[in-house]
Amino acid sequence: MVDIYCNSDRCEYDIRALVMAFFPYTAPDYHISEENYIRERVKDCNSEKGTDIYILMHERSIFIECKGVKKEYAFDDKPDTKKYRDELKRLLYKTLNAAVKEELKWGTLTGVRPTKLAMKRILSGHDEEQVADYMQKEFFCSRQKAELCTEIAKREAGILKSIGFYEGYSVYIGIPFCPTVCTYCSFSSMPLTGLDNADELMARYTDALRKECEYVAKAFCGRRLVSIYVGGGTPTALSEKYLKYLMDIIRGNFDVRSVREFTVEAGRPDTISEAKLAILRSAGVTRISVNPQTMNDVTLLSIGRKHTAQQTVYAYDLARKAGFDNINMDIIAGLSGEDEEDFSYTLERIGELDPDSFTVHSLVVKRASEYRKIRESDGARRYGGRIVENMLDMAMEHAKKNGYKPYYMYRQKNKAGLSESPVLENVGYAKEGKESIYNIVIMEEKQTVAAIGAGAQSKLVDPYDPYADEVTGIIRSSNVKNVYEYIDRIDEMIERKKRWAYGQSVN
Ligand code: SF4
Repeated sequence: MVDIYCNSDRCEYDIRALVMAFFPYTAPDYHISEENYIRERVKDCNSEKGTDIYILMHERSIFIECKGVKKEYAFDDKPDTKKYRDELKRLLYKTLNAAVKEELKWGTLTGVRPTKLAMKRILSGHDEEQVADYMQKEFFCSRQKAELCTEIAKREAGILKSIGFYEGYSVYIGIPFCPTVCTYCSFSSMPLTGLDNADELMARYTDALRKECEYVAKAFCGRRLVSIYVGGGTPTALSEKYLKYLMDIIRGNFDVRSVREFTVEAGRPDTISEAKLAILRSAGVTRISVNPQTMNDVTLLSIGRKHTAQQTVYAYDLARKAGFDNINMDIIAGLSGEDEEDFSYTLERIGELDPDSFTVHSLVVKRASEYRKIRESDGARRYGGRIVENMLDMAMEHAKKNGYKPYYMYRQKNKAGLSESPVLENVGYAKEGKESIYNIVIMEEKQTVAAIGAGAQSKLVDPYDPYADEVTGIIRSSNVKNVYEYIDRIDEMIERKKRWAYGQSVN
């Protein structure tokens, strides 16, 4: 249990986020307290016994105490909000680092997109060495993470420039269906297996998508479409009939031939068939994902994937035979019961398949999830941050040895009680020229994305200010998450999108 006592709520979100990074098992309690009370508690040294954190925030100074470690910072002048927040985070980091003798690889960075900070400096002309130094000094990142972040930002910047990122736009289409739900799933995907009205639901959903696609195509007519990404869920969970219908909708509304990338996630190998691959190929799909997550059958069974490693190999071979020359594979570091040896086996097996890119996700498990319960009761093998960190290092080594380079990255949002280890990164590695443009666009938020379907979130990037940061430059609009509501309220979703296309945030 961690209690934070502070005389202000001014930076509560940042304080909580950093404290949770140091104490990943806990959801800290934040108490707004009188200054005198805090001073008395600190004087009594009560805090040495527990993990109470005391913070006094004044206009020109900050004081922090934890476990007897006291740190203070005084500003020369009255700082602006950003400067104040940055110093507060640095001081809090130093205090907790000394108090609990832990170092965080991502330092004071708690956001989901650390590459954005590096990207900003790359785009303003700094070289890689300067940017890595900046990430290390300013945010206390480890040298390894600072360099990773900088390398990715540099590669992304090159790709974004090559596609003229601020003139074009991308389209995302969400298919919120899967054959069954994996036990660790944090999306709101609907299992189709055993659903009585599955056919009718697919028909109604794809019809709603058609209406939204028609609107988006009209609204963005005259603007260059750079990439199309059909994600989920598992788009190939749609039956052949509705997958074909969806492809017809896309081709009927968008100029598929001129896009730089047309991705369809074929995620679950058990949804892939020769006929579906043929539908995708003839629709002009250029990139697909076949996601093993792990090549260990025992783990696959325990996470509810309902397919074997052999099925992954089979689906992958089918996709190659169908002519796909850009195939991605997703794997997960930190699955229940897996240690470095198991992960190494997965890397070895996907190495044999030689996909064009692979993405490594570090698993974050919701405290109340079914998966977490199983994981806590299965007795056993060691879990936690270190093992996942080791796996991420192994993946990086594997990538280096086999000609892949890291090209995009993000971290999961750290919510109270969400993680059992410091939140680590998810990294996409690709061979030269096989990077997913959409993945870069969505992570760096440098291009408008019109997102279609239940739960999809659109982002309008101000075309006159492509270098603007996330606070000022992006206008968002969200569709409702529930599939049935999305279908029933499709006209309202289109109205929302109309307002969004004219520059109004709609949620
Ligand atoms: S395949 Fe992905 S979206 Fe579908 S249930 Fe599994 S984790 Fe969730």
